[in-house]
Parts: sequence; structure tokens; C-alpha cells
Amino acid sequence: MAHLKLHIPGPVEVSEKTFKAFCSPMIGHRGQGFKDLYAKIQPQLQQLLYTKQLVYLSTSSAWGVMEGAIRNVVQKKVLNCMCGAFSDKWFDVSKKCGKQAEALQVDWGSPIRAEQVDAKLATGQFDALTLIHNETSTGVMSPLVEIAALKKKYPDVTFIVDAVSSMSAVPIKFDELGIDVLLAGTQKAFALPPGTAVFVCSPAALAKAALAKDRGYYFDFVEFQKNAEQSMTPSTPSIGHIFALSSKLDDFFAEGLENRYARHKKTNQLTRDWAAKHGFNLFPEKGFESITLTCISNGARPGGRTVDVAKLQKLTKDQGFLIDGGYGKIKGTTFRISNMGDETEATMNQLFAALDKSMAQL
Ligand SMILES: *Cc1c(COP(=O)(O)O)cnc(C)c1O
Repeated sequence: MAHLKLHIPGPVEVSEKTFKAFCSPMIGHRGQGFKDLYAKIQPQLQQLLYTKQLVYLSTSSAWGVMEGAIRNVVQKKVLNCMCGAFSDKWFDVSKKCGKQAEALQVDWGSPIRAEQVDAKLATGQFDALTLIHNETSTGVMSPLVEIAALKKKYPDVTFIVDAVSSMSAVPIKFDELGIDVLLAGTQKAFALPPGTAVFVCSPAALAKAALAKDRGYYFDFVEFQKNAEQSMTPSTPSIGHIFALSSKLDDFFAEGLENRYARHKKTNQLTRDWAAKHGFNLFPEKGFESITLTCISNGARPGGRTVDVAKLQKLTKDQGFLIDGGYGKIKGTTFRISNMGDETEATMNQLFAALDKSMAQL
């Protein structure tokens, strides 16, 4: 089968080096080899997340930890900040976990604003909130620093943050932000195969989890901490992923984190330029566009060009590149192009050349 290069916002393209590491010979998860592997990547993960806390490895997709967070640290009532498909879904998950939950819903394309969160928390009803930093369905990045600043005003509210499609592409300083749970799946900006998530908890979140009698088994945060202290995971992890993560973290630090952030900014700007060149508008509210993917309006916003997205996708696919045709209720009225992971100016330009050719054939 001819290789189809992924420019959908997850899973993204995985490098040969990463795959090679993924296929390392298997080792036992309770042996010294595994402990050494985890102990080697722990400081790299801590540096990546700007934290002194232990970073945990979960063999699950991101949703496992997202649900786990609800079960571990929501006691009274959770405020689910909702601005797109993933963040909206988190509200359903809260209810399915039997928690009291309230929606802070904004229109798709808008970010969550600190003032809105402040007004809700001021009611005193909530002991936790969920926030998605980079809402992948709409291509919107909410102002995490401003929202996290509210933690000072509401120290007893547990802040749970999904950075699934932004972690490693933008700096997220866990300790400095003062948030409580931060998580990501590795098939997005990390550019690993899907199947693993990384997360970190504040001491306060762990103390709260310890009091939650029905926090479950597989995603018991207290067990993750206990095991991480021994450089282990609670159950048998996907060891291949951890070899791959180790290889990837070496790549991150060889490039340098600042360079990595700058590269994502640059490749994202190129995508926005491509859209503008062809007369498209962007879907997100101005100033809140993601820098790991671009959600392009195809009629969802007034003005701007519209095309047959399915046809554009097909023509581009025939040239070996897969772009996304829009998610959920904005499927077709938007389409998305990812620049996360290993993409460079050169690789993005290959995609744009293919897209230009497709556009000429529409
Ligand atoms: C992809 C994504 C998820 C879901 O991740 P899974 O790996 O499918 O569980 C959650 N949140 C955001 C922001 C995402 O982009």
C-alpha cells in the first residue's frame, strides 16, 4: 500500500526512528530494564512539563485519563468548560461517571475566557473544573495562563487540563501555572502511535484522589504515584510506546524545546498563509487560533471561499496526503490541516504543493 502522509490532527505522521524504537525487543515491566527506561525518561518529561512532580504513563488513549480525572478528583460538582467536540464530550463523561456537572458552553470557534470561568467559580458550587487547552475540533486555543491564574482566587478548586493536541508544541509550565491535573495522548503533538497518555498531578490533587472511595482501579491516580516512585506503572504498560517515547524525548531535546515551539509556530503560520492565499477564512475567533492545527472555514463563517471539501480531500489523498474534512457538526463547513509533530517548513511545503494542485482541479 502506498504511504499516505497524515496531516489530520491526530494520529499524525510517525517517523521511522520512532517506529524502530517502538519495535525494540520486549522487556519485563517489573524488571530493572523497565525501571531504568522509566527513570531515564522521567527527568525529560519533567523538563518538558516544567514540573518537579512525577509524570505518569498510562496505557490508554487520552480519554482514559480524562475519565480517570473525573473519578479521582471530582467530589462535589465539576464545571466542564465547553467550546468544541472534545470539551463538550467531557461534560457527558462527567455525568456518566455519576458526578454532578455543569456546562460552561460557548459557541464553537470561541475560546473559553477567564471572566466566564471566574463568574461560574464565584458561585462556590464547584470543587473541580475541566478545560481543554487546544480544542482540536475547532482549532481554538483557550488562554490557559489567564484561566490558570484564577487558581489563586479559588485554591480549593481542582483544575483539570487537557493539553492533548498542544503538549510539547507550546510551553505549558505545570508547576508555575498551579494547575492540578495535566494530560495528553501521545498520538498528537508527540507524534507517537496512538495508545499511550502522559499525565501529572499536583500534590493537592493526589491528596484529594486518596479520599475518593470510588475512584476506580485502572486509573487510580494514587497507584500511579506509588508506582512512579519506583519507576513503574500500576499495570503492564505498552512498553513499545515507552521505548518510542524515550526516542522521541531525545529528539525533542536534541532540537531544543524553544526551537520546537518556534517550528510549530512557523509551520502553523505557513498553513494560515496558504488558506489566505486561496481566499479562505479561518474558523476560530481572531486571536485564539491553535498553533498545532488550522481549522479553515468552508462556509461556517460568513465570506471567504468555499469548495467541495470531500473532493479536495480526495484529490489530495491521490497525491499521498491526508487532510481532515472537519469534525462533528462542522464537518464539511470546515476542514483541518495539522502541522503538529515532526513537520518542517519543507514538509509543509510539499503538502501545500499537493493542495495547490488539488485546488486547481476543483
Ligand atoms: C484527540 C483528542 C482527545 C481524545 O483523545 P483519544 O486519544 O482519542 O482518547 C481529547 N482531547 C483533545 C483535545 C484531543 O485532540
